[in-house]
Formats: sequence, C-alpha cells, structure tokens
Amino acid sequence: MDERFICDRNLGKLAKWLRILGYDTLFYRGNADRDFLRKADREGRIALTRKRDLERRRHAGRLVVIKADRADAQIGEILEVLALSPDPLRRMSRCLRCNSTLEEVAKEAVEGMVPVYVYENCMQFHRCSLCRGIFWPGTHPRHVEEYLRRRIPSRRP
Ligand SMILES: [Zn+2]
Repeated sequence: MDERFICDRNLGKLAKWLRILGYDTLFYRGNADRDFLRKADREGRIALTRKRDLERRRHAGRLVVIKADRADAQIGEILEVLALSPDPLRRMSRCLRCNSTLEEVAKEAVEGMVPVYVYENCMQFHRCSLCRGIFWPGTHPRHVEEYLRRRIPSRRP
C-alpha cells in the first residue's frame, strides 16, 4: 500500500475511489502537462492521466494512461495494470475531500455535527486531521462500496 498517486483533472472520481481504498492521492487541478509530471516525480507519485500524448514525454517516474471511461472500470484498470492489492484495513484512512489522514473519534465527539439518524445508527466515526470533515461507514456512495467489495475480496494476501 505504499503507492502514492496524482490524478489529472479528468480523473476526479478516480482520485476519490483511490482515497476510499486508502491510497494517498492528489487531485491536480491544472492541465496534465510538464508541471504535472514534475510534481509527480518530486513527490514520488504515480501519475494517472487520460492524455495519451503524455506517454511520449520524457519522464523519470511511473505514468499510467487510463483508457476506461467510467470510474469503476478505471479503478479496475489500475488495480490490474499495477497489480495492486489494497489492504481492507486501510479503508477510511484518507479524507475524500483533502486527502489528509483520518483519525477515529469517539461517537460523543461528533454529536450535533452529523445528521441525527446517522448519530443514532453509526458506531464508528472518523475525522480529518486537516479539514475536520467527519466520515462514517455509509459516507461513500453505496454503489462504490458494493463495487469494491465485489472487485476486491477482503482476504489478506
Ligand atoms: Zn480533509
């Protein structure tokens, strides 16, 4: 799980999915250009883009040109191309908004900060150390969770 990523601006959804899996993933708002690759190299991140012509650029680090259109197919593509095996224990370890690390917080600490039905029905809460966003099981769209469960068996290698 030591792989780190940077997604170009066409891959915003994919960046979220990678964060859900627990991968340190930056979302790059500018064009996928030389600066994008430079940042990837500097930070030791695998560059993910949809721009085929980036493959021709001289680039020291790893670059993957994503071919699939939909986020679920894209995540499948990456897992396959890079032979990744995400650790199920790392889910809910990254903030979906800002990519910082999440820490587990006591239920009482989030009272009044999450919807009442969530507070009543959830036992486990995480808070972002940077943006203070609060996450709980169910924060992620259900279809994403289901897809990941199907695609990534929760056995340890
Ligand atoms: Zn955050």
